[in-house]
Amino acid sequence: MTKLAIVVPCYNEQEVLPDTNKQLTELLNGLVDGGKVSEDSFILYVNDGSRDETWSIIDRFAHEYGAVQGLKLAGNVGHQNALLAGLMTVKDEVDAAISIDADLQDDIGVITEMVDKFEAGCDIVYGVRSVRKTDTFFKRFTAESFYKLMIFMGAKSIYNHADYRLMSSRALDGLSQFKERNLFLRGIVPTIGYRSDCVYYERKERKAGESKYPFGKMLSFAFDGITSFSIKPMSYIMGIGVFLILCAIVFAIYSFHSYLTENVVRGWTSIVLSLWFIGGLVLFSVGMVGQYIGKIYMEVKERPRYIVECRETGSGNV
Ligand code: UDP
Ligand code: MG
Repeated sequence: MTKLAIVVPCYNEQEVLPDTNKQLTELLNGLVDGGKVSEDSFILYVNDGSRDETWSIIDRFAHEYGAVQGLKLAGNVGHQNALLAGLMTVKDEVDAAISIDADLQDDIGVITEMVDKFEAGCDIVYGVRSVRKTDTFFKRFTAESFYKLMIFMGAKSIYNHADYRLMSSRALDGLSQFKERNLFLRGIVPTIGYRSDCVYYERKERKAGESKYPFGKMLSFAFDGITSFSIKPMSYIMGIGVFLILCAIVFAIYSFHSYLTENVVRGWTSIVLSLWFIGGLVLFSVGMVGQYIGKIYMEVKERPRYIVECRETGSGNV
């Protein structure tokens, strides 16, 4: 039977934790009773250096409930790192781990479906938001533009999927081989490989507390996502450079023509020409240098070049 861990990163979540814990423990008990997951499955709350009562609440739950555990990080390291800490802690203890935000905006009702898909052979099951009725227009617009931009900029990512997903222990093992400091989990996970699937749900409103991702933080998160996965922006800059140089050639013909046929102001031809040409050349060179820096960047990440799924020697029954 599947041994499951539910990993929940928590940063200043004292308002939502009691309710979250009630819902999650009820769900887990249901799964255990229904024979879906093993009895030693558990919930792990990761306290990401909260400044409120979050840890004392987690600590209390860990003593009160058999299936609840807590992990306290020494300081605030951010959502992605806190999540990784939790996942890496449970990686060798369980068959599969589900990560979910503490505010339960993501529907826990689909966890059963996730486990089913895991048992059917999927190593990664993505929770995907099918509708965002409850999000404000602004949040929905910015979030959806973010996913589109990510894809345009060449970062692998699953549309409308946040960090609500199930990963098998070997997928977590794959994840542990990504050594980068700049963590953007939703980009890394699809590059691991293995069979994956999606489950769909409606995103709910945050019940209490505040969003820890205000607009500014979301922007920098998007920027991080793009710059840690793709060197395409550099190629775009190079492209603009080439375009400007082409413009310079067109201008050369035009201004030379004007120089010969009309009475243009002295100096205009040479200024206009050098302006476009040098501009183009500078951008092209910056883009070119960027390509090298991009390569160095990809190298220093030391990502795994491949992850082996299995080896078949065929030396079974003769
Ligand atoms: N979180 C964290 N460390 C941080 C910020 C956030 O562990 O520095 C957690 C937070 O407790 C929550 C999750 O990350 O469980 C997502 O945050 P939030 O729900 O505020 O983001 P939103 O849903 O508004 O994008
Ligand atoms: Mg949230």
